[in-house]
Amino acid sequence: MADEESGAVRQWQEIRHSMLRAERECGRPEGSTTLVAVSKTFDSDAIRPVLEAGQRVFGENRVQEAKGKWPALRESFPDIELHLIGPLQSNKAGEAVALFDVIETVDRERIAAALAQAMAAQGRRPKLLVQVNTGAEPQKAGVLPQHIDEFLSICRDRYQLSIAGLMCIPPVDDNPSPHFALLAKLAGRNGLPLLSMGMSADYEQAIRLGATHVRVGSAIFGSRPRPA
Ligand SMILES: *Cc1c(COP(=O)(O)O)cnc(C)c1O
Repeated sequence: MADEESGAVRQWQEIRHSMLRAERECGRPEGSTTLVAVSKTFDSDAIRPVLEAGQRVFGENRVQEAKGKWPALRESFPDIELHLIGPLQSNKAGEAVALFDVIETVDRERIAAALAQAMAAQGRRPKLLVQVNTGAEPQKAGVLPQHIDEFLSICRDRYQLSIAGLMCIPPVDDNPSPHFALLAKLAGRNGLPLLSMGMSADYEQAIRLGATHVRVGSAIFGSRPRPA
């Protein structure tokens, strides 16, 4: 609906302004944080106005859903950058490499192996980030902080994968800042330039702690239906 569409564009503009404000306030260069607009569960009609307003970087959490929406949108907007931000199964690695420009959720050796194989077969090299389970939550994906250095060595030495950065999703009930600070520390000591952290509720905190990418969904597109 036209009203909802313009609502998303207005909210997108507000997010961009607060990102610039957060960058200024903490002395980072303006524009040093990339907004990943998380469009999962929203259809092409909801996404298109935000694309037309100028947003080009989007996040999706399911390979299958993304395959249904993005190839057609890419025909109109060839410079889209698509991020996979949800868990990846190794049997979907080929499809993920074909569709995504950044895969943020490398989280185990099996996935590293499957991605290395798919990348060699397709001659495509999406940027890769490793997901870190900073809160050590049993139900959550991600490499534990104490295993991250070893996992990065495995990616590099065993699979010749170049890892560009780290991503995390802090526990919902925690203050996210210590998690962001930990992620920044782990990336720093491994020389990784990219830090994907911060969502609708806490992206400004993430920017203050060095995020290069914030993943914002509901604050742009509105609330999502709860998963069935
Ligand atoms: C859904 C999702 C987001 C966006 O969450 P909002 O709270 O709607 O901004 C960010 N990151 C990941 C990994 C997600 O799955």
